[in-house]
Amino acid sequence: MPVKKSIKRIKHTRPKKTNPKFDVYKKVLLKTKEQIAGDIRTLSDENSGSGNDRSGDVSGHALHMADVATDMYDREFTLGLASTDRELLFEVVEALGRIQDGTYGACVQCKKPIPATRLKAIPHARTCLKCQKSLEAKSR
Ligand SMILES: [Zn+2]
Repeated sequence: MPVKKSIKRIKHTRPKKTNPKFDVYKKVLLKTKEQIAGDIRTLSDENSGSGNDRSGDVSGHALHMADVATDMYDREFTLGLASTDRELLFEVVEALGRIQDGTYGACVQCKKPIPATRLKAIPHARTCLKCQKSLEAKSR
């Protein structure tokens, strides 16, 4: 039944806030992305000769590194990656996008929430275990 609610105070619209529940996964995803990006950077540094110091406090650079990864993602850098790394980077970027638009944590197949235990194991998981299994069965 319709619930009538009067919203008197409408707060000015802020940039969409991501669900704090997923912050922990976001951190893991960003870290994974950073790691892959770090690998790319190591490779590209050898070519470009820019001797950036990547030792020291890595966590402080997490966001910056994530930006770098996004930039790199669009470039041919990714071609130099092993296909597994490339796939993982793609999955991770996708998952981060889903956190941004608020669809993260729901199975893309059945739209049901993906259990936290699965997200903890695979933060970039797109489907619940059940759908994953049926997808695997189909592809066989
Ligand atoms: Zn599902």
